[in-house]
Amino acid sequence: MNLKRKNTKVATDRGLKCHQCDSRKFRVVYTRAARGGKLVRRRQCLKCGERLTTWERAIGVQ
Ligand SMILES: [Zn+2]
Repeated sequence: MNLKRKNTKVATDRGLKCHQCDSRKFRVVYTRAARGGKLVRRRQCLKCGERLTTWERAIGVQ
């Protein structure tokens, strides 16, 4: 049985820009919860493949 999860969401968050090619389109590689109610998102640029990690505060989550 193959339960491989597909995660091909495209994020177009404002303010987030690739520092290599200035592209604003990223694929979210994974999202996970971190301490302090934050979310860590690993993103990959769709244009050049540059990877970056963003930290986001989860609103309404304690
Ligand atoms: Zn890029």
